Amino acid sequence: MNLFRLLPSIDKLLGRMAEDPELRGLPRALLRDLANDFLDVVREEIRAGTAGADDLDEARLLPRALAFVRVRSKPRFRRVLNATGVVIHTNLGRSNLPDSAVEAVARAARDYSNLEFDLSTGKRGSRYSHVEELLCRITGAEAALVVNNNASAVLLTLQTLARDREAIVSRGELVEIGGSFRIPDVMARSGARLVEVGATNRTHPRDYENAITGETGLLLKVHASNFRIVGFSKEVSLEELVGIGRAHSIPVMEDLGSGNFVDFTALGIPLDEPTVQRRVAAGADVVTFSGDKVLGGPQAGLIVGRREYVDRIKRNPVSRAMRIDKMTLAALEAVLRLYLEPERALREIPTLAMITAGADELKNKARSLRRRLSRDLAGRARLSLKPGSSRVGGGSFPECDLPTTLVAVEPQAPVTAEALREALLATEPPLVGRVEDDAFLLDPRTLRRDEFPLAGSSLDQALESLGAAKES
Ligand SMILES: *Cc1c(COP(=O)(O)O)cnc(C)c1O
Repeated sequence: MNLFRLLPSIDKLLGRMAEDPELRGLPRALLRDLANDFLDVVREEIRAGTAGADDLDEARLLPRALAFVRVRSKPRFRRVLNATGVVIHTNLGRSNLPDSAVEAVARAARDYSNLEFDLSTGKRGSRYSHVEELLCRITGAEAALVVNNNASAVLLTLQTLARDREAIVSRGELVEIGGSFRIPDVMARSGARLVEVGATNRTHPRDYENAITGETGLLLKVHASNFRIVGFSKEVSLEELVGIGRAHSIPVMEDLGSGNFVDFTALGIPLDEPTVQRRVAAGADVVTFSGDKVLGGPQAGLIVGRREYVDRIKRNPVSRAMRIDKMTLAALEAVLRLYLEPERALREIPTLAMITAGADELKNKARSLRRRLSRDLAGRARLSLKPGSSRVGGGSFPECDLPTTLVAVEPQAPVTAEALREALLATEPPLVGRVEDDAFLLDPRTLRRDEFPLAGSSLDQALESLGAAKES
């Protein structure tokens, strides 16, 4: 029997799709292409001998075709639920914006604005002016500039201050932060000549002193965001480096990576990182940091420091190629305004609220999540609470575990936790978590309460697709 002849026609598939509420409104040409893709997949199965006459029965094939087309016709860039407990998860979009910033983004997107228009003179203005004053007020710096991300902030600063000159860095700070961003490579591209000093574990003030020549343009300090050198180690403090820079009239730049405005240790949270304010007060001439790491704002690279250097960076024509767009600017201004009231910032900026969530609050959230899931899963998995730890992520605070309470989901055999994890990537919305000791773990730290019903629905869909039987 020629199995290929059992395949439905394209018109038949298109006819079925026209009746489907989800697919009905989509462009016909797109649906036709996807229907053809589906038929190609089935033809391949027939050739490989994995599809028999039964599988080609309309009752089986049409629902499969609809599911195939539904998945592929959805927008590719989608919401996911983050149950990993990694607060600043670069792969999942780093920081969620506070509501005030979300509203500001929508307004900037929809309406005309004074982006580069000075309302006091009616003449051309600067897009940077909207956040410069706020950044100076918060950090104590004389001047500020904002670009697309911290990678561009570092590149632009190096290029402005050290192109065709030498920049001195400790060997212990030649960091790779992931995504192939390596300080030595970025320096090479900026046109600065890298002068490495010290040893991997120990660098002394005299190492910098001895390396300074008439060619030196910059002393660079890089925050070792995602690793720590422990044991027999010594680094030169920013204060010491500033002393050396001043004595030789050489600017000192620090790439802080994450950069935070909040002193977490004062809140009893063991994240021992200097704030941007403290780095500025210590005399750094230029400090660069990310907008969407611990700061909790949109993707952006923030440059703060002494006016003379920041002005030179602003005048570098390359800055035009890194300028931030109006929606980012709107979000950033809204987030920075929250920092004018620190308690409000801690409450309303999701990244800060998640990092500082207390043990009792997390335990209560875990209990509510388990209650919700036990209703949705109806006996198809065993649910329990267990102590665990969350991470700040984003290459920040690598050695710091934040205690949390996890909800462990152990599906009934033969479904494994690993199969469940995989199936959850195809649910609507997809749910991302981790597997440990044959349990799928959800960390309530990175799930909002209003997302609990969605998490329940995703788990329900995943178990359904794995054929887990509902208890009657
Ligand atoms: C994260 C990081 C960067 C890059 O910042 P992006 O905002 O991701 O471009 C640069 N330097 C350090 C030390 C970092 O931790």
